[in-house]
Amino acid sequence: MEYEAVIGLETHVQLKTKSKMWCGCVNAFGAPPNTNVCPVCLGLPGVLPVPNDEALRLTVLTGFLLNCEIPRFAKFDRKSYFYPDMPKNYQITQYDQPSTANGHVEFEFNGGLSRVRITRAHLEEDVGKSTHFERNSGVDFNRAGVPLMEIVSEPDITSANMAYEYLNALKDILVYGGVSDCDMEKGMVRCDVNVSVRPKGTKELGAKIEIKNMNSFSGVRRALEYEIPRQIEVLTKGGKLIQSTRRWDDGVGITEEMRTKEDAHDYRYFPDPDLMPLAPTDAWLAEVKSRVVELPLARKQRFMKDYGLPASDAQTFVWDVPLGNYFEGIAKKSKNPKSIANWVINNLRAKLAEANEKLVGTDSTPSQTSSTDRDAVERVPTMTLDNLKFKPEAILELAGLVENKTISSSAAQQVFAEMFETGKSPAAIVQEKGLAQVSDTGAIEKFCDEAIAANPGPAADFKAGKAAALNFLKGQVMKLSKGKANPALAGEILERKLKG
Ligand code: ADP
Ligand code: MG
Ligand code: ZN
Repeated sequence: MEYEAVIGLETHVQLKTKSKMWCGCVNAFGAPPNTNVCPVCLGLPGVLPVPNDEALRLTVLTGFLLNCEIPRFAKFDRKSYFYPDMPKNYQITQYDQPSTANGHVEFEFNGGLSRVRITRAHLEEDVGKSTHFERNSGVDFNRAGVPLMEIVSEPDITSANMAYEYLNALKDILVYGGVSDCDMEKGMVRCDVNVSVRPKGTKELGAKIEIKNMNSFSGVRRALEYEIPRQIEVLTKGGKLIQSTRRWDDGVGITEEMRTKEDAHDYRYFPDPDLMPLAPTDAWLAEVKSRVVELPLARKQRFMKDYGLPASDAQTFVWDVPLGNYFEGIAKKSKNPKSIANWVINNLRAKLAEANEKLVGTDSTPSQTSSTDRDAVERVPTMTLDNLKFKPEAILELAGLVENKTISSSAAQQVFAEMFETGKSPAAIVQEKGLAQVSDTGAIEKFCDEAIAANPGPAADFKAGKAAALNFLKGQVMKLSKGKANPALAGEILERKLKG
């Protein structure tokens, strides 16, 4: 029998707020243990939570970005949680009336578009972090009370690769929307993976196995690549699967059973009596909605459609937003946006990378840097689109000079290098360096005669029918003319001379 996988993901994302969810403590990663804490996030008796307005906004903004409904009534509930990393012994979350519900995410997968429905995106709080030493354990409460959003998907995902692409799409959306930095290294995104298998084509869901607390997307993919065949094998051998929770061992590359349904927690949810329900008004919702930005997939599709770019160029401009915006500023005025894209991607981006490499290279970077020093080195003022020596219009002008055949494309490379260094206008550089293309037949004829005389071998090859030899001779003409000969004309003249 053939089986298919059914996967639903619960993704936890730390929100990009200045302060924590219920107190004024700083929401920051990497501070010394227990330095960003106060009576509220330490759960001391008698304190009261004050909701972080920006966190409420970012959650609803996420709802808009994920095509969700935004209910006019939502509330916070307490979920019993009895571990040392949560001093209140409960976690505030949204149980049956979340801030957003019933959305979907669309993303590119397998050469087409896939859609995964979103059950809900709700707001909760992160817990502290336990560290186990040889003889004792420590808890760092800096993370306790950091705004955390949980995005629950419907079980619409059907493979390890699809789960991976879904997570990347979700991350791109949240980063674009300014909802979260989604820095995996800093644990800003963690996810629980629910997976079952069933006979292909059947509707009924199999026993749900949950793999807890994955902190990398590639880990999720590997865990599923292990877990799906494992489940199929159990069933194929006549065994039974029961609802249970497993742990992914990244080093060994296997999942192991942690607990079954019998010892599942009773969370004893109840509405938090210290927090008012949420009833967003039209004006508040409109304000949040005004923060919705164009999403990565929409941007890619628009760049392909409006500017006739190939998918790879459009993708480059999705990944590098400032570069894409820079391109767009010029492309809007151009009749040939594709050539502008070539200049921006192949030349400008490469030059910037080169210039920044030089900057970093000349900087004597100490070999042993602490993490804060390393951050400082990375933030050395580098050459960016904002401090270019030339104006964006110069690229438009340069592309025009190639199009109207004033300069050859090889001369254009020289012009670009020069304008990048000095900021001089393309026309000025062409004149100064005498780069204007020679379309004067007489002058080109001379170069052609020279090239043929100096290369009798290739000339004979061409006469004998080897068409490619013409390109070599054309290259020689370009060399002799210092890149100024009109290459098309040079080709015609060479051909005429050799065939004649
Ligand atoms: P719980 O109440 O145990 O948290 P939910 O019904 O809320 O379970 O589902 C949690 C996640 O598990 C969701 O992402 C959902 O899509 C997914 N899920 C539910 N049932 C299954 C199943 N049988 N197989 C795979 N995923 C499932
Ligand atoms: Mg659940
Ligand atoms: Zn605090």
